[in-house]
Amino acid sequence: MKDLIGKTVLVTGAASGIGAAHAKIFATAGVNVVITDVSDINGEQLAASLREQGCHAVFFHLDVSDMKQWVAAVNFAKDKFGGVDFLVNNAGIYTPASVLDETVEGWQRMIDINQSGVLYGIKAVLPGMIERQAGAIVNISSLFGIIGGAGSLSYCATKGAVRMMTKSAALDVVKDNIRINSIHPGQIDTPIVANLTPEMDRAIKARIPMGRLGRPEEIANVSLFLCSDMSSYITGEEISVDGGWNAN
Ligand code: NAD
Repeated sequence: MKDLIGKTVLVTGAASGIGAAHAKIFATAGVNVVITDVSDINGEQLAASLREQGCHAVFFHLDVSDMKQWVAAVNFAKDKFGGVDFLVNNAGIYTPASVLDETVEGWQRMIDINQSGVLYGIKAVLPGMIERQAGAIVNISSLFGIIGGAGSLSYCATKGAVRMMTKSAALDVVKDNIRINSIHPGQIDTPIVANLTPEMDRAIKARIPMGRLGRPEEIANVSLFLCSDMSSYITGEEISVDGGWNAN
């Protein structure tokens, strides 16, 4: 994927789990990486360790639910590396709650981060991509954006919204040579799964045909493909990366 060398990716929620795997895999592929997160210490540490390995990586504080911070992050990437070629909308939260238990505050917070955060990111990077008539955006949705999950009402709502936002936005900019796709991870071994109740954890593992959790880099590798010219005819598409769960 030589076409990726020297390009710039902005990854949200990149201080941990799937986002951190993106930072490592894109940086190793020769891409300039703007690591963003609300977790400053972990984000700075990851950027420093990648720089020590000779990669181009910087950290910028970005709460994805704040459009003003998005504008600042994209300006930062422009100053540092000349612009954003690829965006990975990865930041997300998961707090279990059934339709009976969910609160107005819990619902709103999930929408602010998981759903509005994705819209703001797309809006923030598109002007530069349209100017260059090139770009790729990957939205990390979830298997729970395709199927429902008991005790996960708000999460499923936001991830389902991301799935459809991906397709609609992809059609809006298809003539500008910008591709937008979504990835739908099954259960991946990251800190976020610590929020599952033991019953949910057991039930999920029993349903994975491959019989194991996914690894964060197994998601990041698919994003790398979706940003490269190897996927030049793919847009508005949803890709499940779930050990066969969705095929079951
Ligand atoms: P994680 O908890 O390890 O990482 C999430 C990161 O997002 C953290 O670094 C956190 O600080 C950051 N974050 C939280 N709120 C933020 C905000 N407002 N602005 C910016 N950053 C914020 O979780 P993960 O498993 O790596 O999840 C990454 C993405 O993958 C999420 O969107 C999640 O919904 C999705 N996903 C994960 C799984 C899984 O099983 N791990 C499955 C499906 C989808």
